[in-house]
Order: sequence, then structure tokens, then C-alpha cells
Amino acid sequence: MQNTVEAILEKTDFSREDLVTLLNAEAHDQELIFRKAAEVKKQFVGNKVYFRGLVELSNICSKNCYYCGIRSGNKVVDRYFVSDDEVLEAAKYALDNGYGSMVIQSGERTDKVFIAKVTQLLEKIKNLSAGKLGITLSMGEQTEETYRNWFEAGAHRYLIRIETSNRELYYKIHPQDARHDYDYRLNALRLLRKTGYNVGTGVMIGLPFQTIEDLAGDLLFFRELDIDMAGMGPYIEHKDTPLYQYKDILIPKKDRFYLSLKMVAILRIMMKDINIAATTAMQTLDKQGREKALKVGANIIMPNLTPVKYREGYLLYEDKPCINEEASECRNCLEARIHIAGDEIGYGEWGDSKHFAERVKRDNE
Ligand code: SAH
Ligand code: SF4
Repeated sequence: MQNTVEAILEKTDFSREDLVTLLNAEAHDQELIFRKAAEVKKQFVGNKVYFRGLVELSNICSKNCYYCGIRSGNKVVDRYFVSDDEVLEAAKYALDNGYGSMVIQSGERTDKVFIAKVTQLLEKIKNLSAGKLGITLSMGEQTEETYRNWFEAGAHRYLIRIETSNRELYYKIHPQDARHDYDYRLNALRLLRKTGYNVGTGVMIGLPFQTIEDLAGDLLFFRELDIDMAGMGPYIEHKDTPLYQYKDILIPKKDRFYLSLKMVAILRIMMKDINIAATTAMQTLDKQGREKALKVGANIIMPNLTPVKYREGYLLYEDKPCINEEASECRNCLEARIHIAGDEIGYGEWGDSKHFAERVKRDNE
């Protein structure tokens, strides 16, 4: 007789109850999920992994998320802003080394100076690469006009994690004020889609007070929103943040890691043609975390190209890996890791999600 996990994996659509069962799976059942996800990945996205060279542009942030090490309330962090020349150097490195794209991430700012600076940077990167480098932004909640300006300046993908799709939990991990409004963040995803971006979102896994039902809800949320890309990873406590007080009620790090891996695998089975990142936070909890994520469905890696002198400043969470590694060391180490995972690297390609292309085709019909 088939066991429940086996029977669920035969289905084409998962219910909330199915997802809870899958997320609770252990041992042999967990392996079945991983195996199925690997098959789906091979069939629908192939074994190519795409690189996005990551620049952590600035740790100056106007928000105060309770989990994040660079929140504005953390006064022990030295604040930085990477210079234009340094960003362009990173862009050149990406180009010369066949990375098809960059991701530029930053603390959230909505002032005019910041917005204009990002616009100019985008134009400079596009010029330098003759339009070859694809650019993903991750700069939080902005107005529709700003999203449009940045899109016109050359960005074409945008990541903004909903962090958790459970509204009540959202307000437990953020201050309850106008700057941290769940609906505003949700609407940002809608605006990005309307503007024409490849849209990515994600959640943290293993947050205090988060349940398996919440995570099942997150997966349904991704499907409902019809996202093009996902970036998920374990929540990792940081001692200079308010959420640190709950460190003793968190699930053990190893379990958090495997739960994150299951989230990646189940999402791959559910949304077969989207891009899914093997995130740095996964590597933080397991030395081979990113390779393991690639094996169970992820197809995107973001090697860090932030100049080393700034990396200590961008500690969103503790024990972040590779904070002393130059880009070239990073490349060698990553290449080896990807080959171990049985994948190839899509050098020089943008590697947009197939889902995006299909969605645009559908919208135009
Ligand atoms: N300011 C932007 C982008 C930078 S933060 C934004 O918030 O959208 C990027 C991501 O880091 C966040 O979305 C969050 O999911 C993640 N992050 C922050 N603190 C974290 C922590 N303690 N553990 C794991 N991930 C964390
Ligand atoms: Fe700022 Fe993003 Fe950290 Fe929130 S998660 S404090 S918006 S950098």
C-alpha cells in the first residue's frame, strides 16, 4: 500500500493539508520529496544554474524589522554606501567572468537622493555592459513611479520577500506602524508585476511563533500570486535585534535547515518552471547548504561581489559565510560546488525564469 507522502506526490495539485503532511515528512518520506523535486527540476528547468553577482549596496536602512541585523535601531553597526566605481568594478568582474546578471540589494530608503543614485547606477551598469548584464534589484518597498523609473533605467527583475504570508505573524516580527505595513508590502508585489518586472518573493523559515501551517500557507501564497522567482531561507537569530529574546523557543538549526530544504523542494514540485535561489542563509546553517538546495530544485546562485571591506557591515544575521572571501576565490569555490551538485553553469546568460516568459505570453493572448 502507498504511504501518504507517496500518494500526495502523485497529485497535480496540493491542498493545505497535503502541504502540512509534506512539510512534516522525515527520513524515507523526506527523501521521496527530494527525489521528486530533483526529477521535476531536470525535466522543467534542466541542470543549468545561473549566477547573479550580488552587490550589497548599502546597509543604511530606514526600517526597523525586528529580525534584521542592519535595522535602523541597531546603533552598533557602522553604516556604509559602496561607491559607484566599486559597483562598476563588480559589474565588470561579473561581465568578464561570464555571470549573466547582477543583484543589487540594499537597506530600504525612499528619499530622492537614494532613488536618483540607484537610477544613475543602473544606467552606468547598462552602459558598461552594453546592455548585456541583467539586473535584479532588492530595495524594498517603493512607489510605482520609482519602480517604473528603475525599470526604464535597466532593472528587469525585483525581489521583495513577504517574509511571512501570515498577517498576524508579520506584525509580531515587525513594528506595528505605517512603515511596516503588510498590505503595502503585498501591494508592492502587484505594482512590480504591473510595471513589467520578473517578480520574486520569499519567506524566512523557522521564525519564532511560525507554524508548519503558516509555511503551507506561504507555499499557497506563492502559487496564488503566480510568482516568477523565489528566495527563501532559514531565519537566523542576530543578537542585536529584538527577536533575539526568543532564541530559546526556535527549532534547532539542523531542523530549520531541513525544513528550508523541504520548502525549496515542495515549491519546485508545485511551481515547476520558476527560478528558485539557493540562498546564503542555507549555507550558513549547513556548509553544503547551497549544493543541497540545488539538488532538490534550486537553480540560481548569488555569489557575493560586495567589496570585502564592507561585508562585516552587511550582517543581516549571525555567522554569515564568505565575509572574507574575494570574488575570485568565491568563483572557484562555487564552480566546484556546483559541479559536485551535478549541475552546469549557464555562463553569460540572463537565465530569466521560464515562468515569466510563459506568463507574459499568456497575458498578451
Ligand atoms: N531591505 C530590503 C532588502 C535587504 S534585506 C528588504 O528588506 O526587502 C533582504 C532579506 O534578508 C530580507 O527580505 C529578509 O528575508 C532577510 N533577512 C533579514 N534578517 C534576517 C535574519 N535574521 N535571518 C534570515 N534572513 C534575514
Ligand atoms: Fe531594512 Fe530589509 Fe533589514 Fe528590514 S530586512 S531592516 S527593510 S534591510
